[in-house]
Amino acid sequence: MLSVFCSPTRYAQGKNATASLGQELFGLGLTGPVLVVAGRSAIRLLASTWTATFKEATIEHAVHSFGGECSLAEIERVKSSARQAKVRVIVGAGGGKVLDTARAAAADLELPVVNCPTVASSDAPCSALSVIYTDEGVFQEYRFYKKNPDLVLVDTQVIAQGPPRLLAAGMGDALATWFEAKTCVAGHVRNMRGGASTRSALALAKLCYETLLEDGAEALRAVQTRVVTPALERLVEANTLLSGLGFESSGLAAAHAVHNGLTAAPGTHDFFHGEKVADGLLAQLVLEGQPRSVLERVLHFSTAVGLPITLAEIGLAELPRELLQQIAQRATAKGETIHNEPFEVRPDMVADAILAADALGRAWQKEHDRSASSTCGDSTPGSD
Ligand SMILES: [Zn+2]
Repeated sequence: MLSVFCSPTRYAQGKNATASLGQELFGLGLTGPVLVVAGRSAIRLLASTWTATFKEATIEHAVHSFGGECSLAEIERVKSSARQAKVRVIVGAGGGKVLDTARAAAADLELPVVNCPTVASSDAPCSALSVIYTDEGVFQEYRFYKKNPDLVLVDTQVIAQGPPRLLAAGMGDALATWFEAKTCVAGHVRNMRGGASTRSALALAKLCYETLLEDGAEALRAVQTRVVTPALERLVEANTLLSGLGFESSGLAAAHAVHNGLTAAPGTHDFFHGEKVADGLLAQLVLEGQPRSVLERVLHFSTAVGLPITLAEIGLAELPRELLQQIAQRATAKGETIHNEPFEVRPDMVADAILAADALGRAWQKEHDRSASSTCGDSTPGSD
């Protein structure tokens, strides 16, 4: 098996990066016309900047308003918009699902694709795969493409104006990267691109985890204050680039498979990918029998940035046995990344790990609440 490392052709990040989009495309020899696939808030926030930057670079562009779900139907709608406008480049601007849709449509039409994430809520932007959902939002399949995006452009000014909860969700997705990568490397399994991992990918996954621990809480405060700081820049890079390269070129394991299982429960649909991954990671760590110190570091970090550590926090306060079994079945379906774990994983083991992780999270919260109330008003709003 060859070792394989994949990445986007170019990655650009910074405050007001959108203003350079036209020049960035031009520099890559992508002269348009361009179809921008974008969510409503991206259009509201960025339409005038797109007009200016594309005009400056003499690139024609049209805008397709995203339908809300990365489903087969929406991918077809984007393709027909692209054909109608006779475009030669597709730009996705928005959250993970917008970018997934843009990538899928571009791959079908064999066009270059540019990803402009407006939130750092997942590690999808740099990857050469999409997660396809049904129109109802249930995980359907991974779709793999021949190549990674031609350009990923991240405007941190836009991210700083976004909901803090989405940044935290991105940290949940990135939190799992190092643990899933380590598991894949230890088991000598194939990464998401069909090759063995490299030392480079594993080192990036580790740097991703270290950056989260170092900068996560401060970056979250920056977004709560709607400002761009060096900590936010580093954290956005971790959520987007380091996590993206880490997961794709090292591999995924139980955390993402449990996430895919959780999407089978309608109660979880109001929660973001990274929030469910964070919960899935706890299940993975329990499943792998990781030491208490590892679990505590993850629980401590998740609590600090407001990531869920219990089932109740992802909409599953009630979890009937039958639904739990359904989740566990889905998580262990044939081809799932849970089979990258270095031992055979059966549905009953996953169900047990999910319940044990939940119990652990609840115990942690109880302990934490008690110590917070005993450290004289530390947690009182406005006390510092
Ligand atoms: Zn993910």
